[in-house]
Amino acid sequence: MSQLKTASEILKTAAHNFDSAADRLKLDSGLRQKLSQPKERIIITANPVMPDGKIRQFTAFVVRHSDALGPSKGGIRMTDDVTLDDVAGLAMEMSWKASLIGVPFGGGKAGICLDGGSLSKEEKEIIIRSFTRAAMRHIGPEIYIPAPDMGTNETDMGHIRDCISYSEGISITKGCYVTGKPVILGGITGRREATGKGVVYSILAACGKVGLDIKKARAAVQGFGNVGGVAAMETAGCGAAVVAVSDISGGVFNKNGLDIEQLGNHVKRTGYVKGFKNAAAIDRQEVLEVDCDIVIPAASQGQITAENAPKIKAKIIAEGANAPTTPAADEILNKRDVFVIPDILCNAGGVFVSYLEYTQETQREQMTLDHVNSRLHRAMNQRFEAVYDYGREHKITMRQAAMELAISRVAEGVVARGFLP
Ligand code: NAD
Repeated sequence: MSQLKTASEILKTAAHNFDSAADRLKLDSGLRQKLSQPKERIIITANPVMPDGKIRQFTAFVVRHSDALGPSKGGIRMTDDVTLDDVAGLAMEMSWKASLIGVPFGGGKAGICLDGGSLSKEEKEIIIRSFTRAAMRHIGPEIYIPAPDMGTNETDMGHIRDCISYSEGISITKGCYVTGKPVILGGITGRREATGKGVVYSILAACGKVGLDIKKARAAVQGFGNVGGVAAMETAGCGAAVVAVSDISGGVFNKNGLDIEQLGNHVKRTGYVKGFKNAAAIDRQEVLEVDCDIVIPAASQGQITAENAPKIKAKIIAEGANAPTTPAADEILNKRDVFVIPDILCNAGGVFVSYLEYTQETQREQMTLDHVNSRLHRAMNQRFEAVYDYGREHKITMRQAAMELAISRVAEGVVARGFLP
């Protein structure tokens, strides 16, 4: 992807991380070329009729980066500024993430260019169903299996599943077409919390490496949605003081620790963290720079830059978001010895539990929460240790180690399949 000079921040970061790992691995040039490009990029224009009777047009994308290890897997991002390049970069990241955490999926991603938050419930359901109808040829248990990402949630995944089964005239889908669904529709218990929980499992493992006692630690969380909300709650549950949280509306700070449960209730009531009592208001970017030990970026891409990286005080950065750190910031953080848990490891809990959902749906069973959480815990710990050991052995960073392990497995899958003439 390195030739895409006008690429978005996400795609540039994905291409940079891929190129530098491919250089270090001395990846065969044919394989390198293949893995540097998505297998398929689809642009969709849909024109649903909205509740007010007017036709509304929107654009959507589906990108499949690789299916060497299995069907492409990745969430649907619904934001007004998402681009085809963003979706391509995120799809590439998904290939590495699934490979690293060890589930038989390739990488994919979808994007819907609309601000989900500005739509009513009815409008959003129409948009999601319209996207599903238009993208249906590209979705399926052996093709691409969507899940929630920024701007989409469990309810939306339920509507996708219903739309597909309805179109086929049957009450269920034949196999798993979408993960992150409501449990009542064949979703898996614990999926909604899986990414945030996985982030915290990897933080606990990192604390062990840097000698930080989580009970005495202070943490700051950027983003209070699916990933950030759960990560904040779980971090506080481990005994740490979560001193700062932000969302799109701004940030809140309390040096003695925020009451995350009460903050969650406030957000349920008002929609945003802004205005939360017992806390000082801070700028939403300031949250990354407050005096603390652990920073969890769990909002959007490109938040940690060359400009703010020198001001970050934390010892550990746990990348709940995808591509939150630019390559230039990464270099600064490495020089400053900040322990960065890279996104493809740190937030892989979601795709791991999605895989459990995929298998339980195929087998028509319902896994218990204990079973899901203990498998998630084991997978996150095993992969964390594998990345850490590989990094120490080769004297490289956690991100470099994670990328090398992940890319090598995908390359091995490509070679094992063989090549068509
Ligand atoms: P979400 O839509 O549920 O929440 C996003 C949160 O970030 C919201 O609170 C929003 O207000 C906030 N936000 C957006 N821009 C911000 C900014 N500039 N500053 C501060 N806050 C901001 O999304 P999510 O599902 O929690 O996803 C968050 C990140 O995690 C994304 O990068 C996503 O790709 C990644 N991720 C999500 C999952 C998953 O299972 N949902 C899995 C892996 C990675």
